[in-house]
Amino acid sequence: MSKSLRLSEKWFRRGLWLVALVFASFLIGLGGTIVNDLPKVERVLQLDDFIDLAAAGPLRSTIKSSEEKELAASRELDQVRLQLTAAQQASANARETFGNWIATRRATAQPDQDPELIARTKSLDALKQKEDEAQRKVAAQRQIVLDARQAEQRARESLAVLERAAQEKLEAEYRRVELRVFGYRLALTLPLLVVAGWLFVKKRKGTYWPFVWGFIFFALFAFFVELVPYLPSYGGYVRYVVGILATVLVGRYAIVALNRYLARQKLAEQQPDQVRREELSYDTALTRLGKGVCPGCERPVDLKNNEIDFCPHCGIGLFDHCGQCETRKSAFSKFCHACGTSALPRVPLASAASSADSFTPGGPAQPAV
Ligand SMILES: [Zn+2]
Ligand SMILES: [Zn+2]
Repeated sequence: MSKSLRLSEKWFRRGLWLVALVFASFLIGLGGTIVNDLPKVERVLQLDDFIDLAAAGPLRSTIKSSEEKELAASRELDQVRLQLTAAQQASANARETFGNWIATRRATAQPDQDPELIARTKSLDALKQKEDEAQRKVAAQRQIVLDARQAEQRARESLAVLERAAQEKLEAEYRRVELRVFGYRLALTLPLLVVAGWLFVKKRKGTYWPFVWGFIFFALFAFFVELVPYLPSYGGYVRYVVGILATVLVGRYAIVALNRYLARQKLAEQQPDQVRREELSYDTALTRLGKGVCPGCERPVDLKNNEIDFCPHCGIGLFDHCGQCETRKSAFSKFCHACGTSALPRVPLASAASSADSFTPGGPAQPAV
């Protein structure tokens, strides 16, 4: 792109590249906004969309009620355990008192105390009964807790089976959604890429090249950022296959372009010196000379050597002599640097000279080979 050696033109070109980049960035921003404003085509999927609700509903309510039951029962269990402890304590105390009393009674052996003995035994029995009652309550609450827990466990196991099936369906649906999203994005980006490819081939050197390149950057961004990450993977197969295809396409393009360039170059090298010189643009020739290569065949040539007037590789004339003052000068410069004579009028002279050199009585229609 920067074939010109004019300073201002160089800077203009840099500015135009900047225009291309800015244009691309605005296109990217606009594209992103459009994509964001598109109606959301996919709603978020949930497990419940795929579970057998008729079967799962009762199971879930069973789990819930069992949990509540278990919680209430464990609270109640704490209470009755406390009661049991109190009853056991009371019973133990009473037994101790009774033991002491009976020991005293044996020592005194008073038969008038027999009714009291009976009464005390009775109250002891009552305490024991209370203790048993509390024990039974504890056992009953434990049973309730256990039942609730087991019911919950059973419900959870059945629910897990349902959920696994639903999960598989959900994942399958996600894969379909992924594919659909990719399809939408492909439908948006592929035309852009095709247009960009056409522009690259046909228009990249046109007058409006900054806009063309801006569009190409935009299409590449859309392809690599908006599309490639959404490529369905299928375990990596798709990505690798697409990568291989893209590499083959780009590689093929490069190889064809190289061969075309070489063929063009070969053809050009067969042309007569003057035709080749006319086909080369002035700026291209100067740029190549500045890099120390032959403007005709782009092979390195020692331009500082005063002995070399012609390219040893392709034979194009590199230096000639001014028609006016005979100063040795670059064959590509338009004016003689010593006397300022235009090199152009020399052209018919040179062709006349060359036709005179290789003069054949055959005809004057010889230059167009
Ligand atoms: Zn050459
Ligand atoms: Zn001169």
